[in-house]
Amino acid sequence: MNNNYMELRFKSTSENEGFARTCVAAFCLQLDPTLEELNDIKTAVSEAVTNCVVHAYPEGNGEIYLKAEITNDLLKVVISDKGIGIENIRQAREPFYTTKPSQERSGMGFAIMESFMDKMNVEKNGNRGLKVTLLKQIKTKEACVGREC
Ligand code: ATP
Ligand code: MG
Repeated sequence: MNNNYMELRFKSTSENEGFARTCVAAFCLQLDPTLEELNDIKTAVSEAVTNCVVHAYPEGNGEIYLKAEITNDLLKVVISDKGIGIENIRQAREPFYTTKPSQERSGMGFAIMESFMDKMNVEKNGNRGLKVTLLKQIKTKEACVGREC
């Protein structure tokens, strides 16, 4: 039984995008992921944290909360904020939907998270802000011996 967790709380500033991405990557190394799996996780975490920085707190800096959990070979990353939240989550998840087209946003963040991870859940964070849950199964290397994975 492999189980572990870590939590981070940090300021919603773009300097912390790389910090959060690197922390999650370092944490999930214990699952011995492939380089591709690691890059997928880093990309998805980056998109979620960037969204908190860019969209959650239009009035200024707030806080971002990140929790990563390992249960056997499953990685779960929860990224949340206490910002303005999203009125219509279904619409926001659509590819190319953005409320900031003028700032060179392409509206692809959620679509990227969804495609790079196995599962993505987006919901209200209690009564304030947004909570994004990302799940990815890390394939165990033993299972690949003698066949293509
Ligand atoms: P891109 O990610 O391609 O730069 P984007 O951030 O606009 O563009 P998505 O990441 O798909 O695209 O997000 C879609 C929309 O959902 C955003 O434009 C924004 O309106 C809203 N949104 C996303 N995350 C949050 C958040 N944490 N708080 C408030 N609104 C959010
Ligand atoms: Mg985005």
